[in-house]
Amino acid sequence: MSDDHASSLISAEVRHVEALLESRGLLGAGEIDTRIDEFLAGGTPANGARIVAHAWTDPGFAARLLADANEAIREVGLSMAGGLQEQRLKVVANTAEEHNVVVCTLCSCYPIALLGPSPSWYKSEAYRSRVVRDPRGVLAEFGLELPAATRISVWDASAESRYMVVPRRPAGTDGLTEPELAGLVTRKGLIGTAAV
Ligand code: FE
Repeated sequence: MSDDHASSLISAEVRHVEALLESRGLLGAGEIDTRIDEFLAGGTPANGARIVAHAWTDPGFAARLLADANEAIREVGLSMAGGLQEQRLKVVANTAEEHNVVVCTLCSCYPIALLGPSPSWYKSEAYRSRVVRDPRGVLAEFGLELPAATRISVWDASAESRYMVVPRRPAGTDGLTEPELAGLVTRKGLIGTAAV
């Protein structure tokens, strides 16, 4: 069998599976194309980290980001409009009083454009079912022990709404440049399962 023939057989099989998933309602029409577009558009946690570093250094941007994230991220050249329709983005900021963590209890909705493909633990049944019931316990398992007085807010993503967390800026980082600050921000920090 030639390589060309093999790859056209594979393409046909993929299209067949895609059509089956769509016909059974497991996959929205065009969802695969949407995901591929987002992927090719350069979704990576570096985007989210860049947003956070900018918010840490520019209080005006931070305020606009919390008020209307879809508009604000355009200021740094990013957008949630990569797919078929723009997903609503809500950005929530951690404070001394409140820690935020993101989940999709139904499936695995996630701001791919800002964080890249989601980690496997985010999609796991264990995380999705437990973080709502026992966020403090789940965060402790991630190594994040929060003071008892810190309130924990859990944000449940959906097909229409995606969330991202702005971690608290670490102490002792006053002298760092914005790119250096972005380098401190991790994917877990942007989801809320790490402090930064
Ligand atoms: Fe989901």
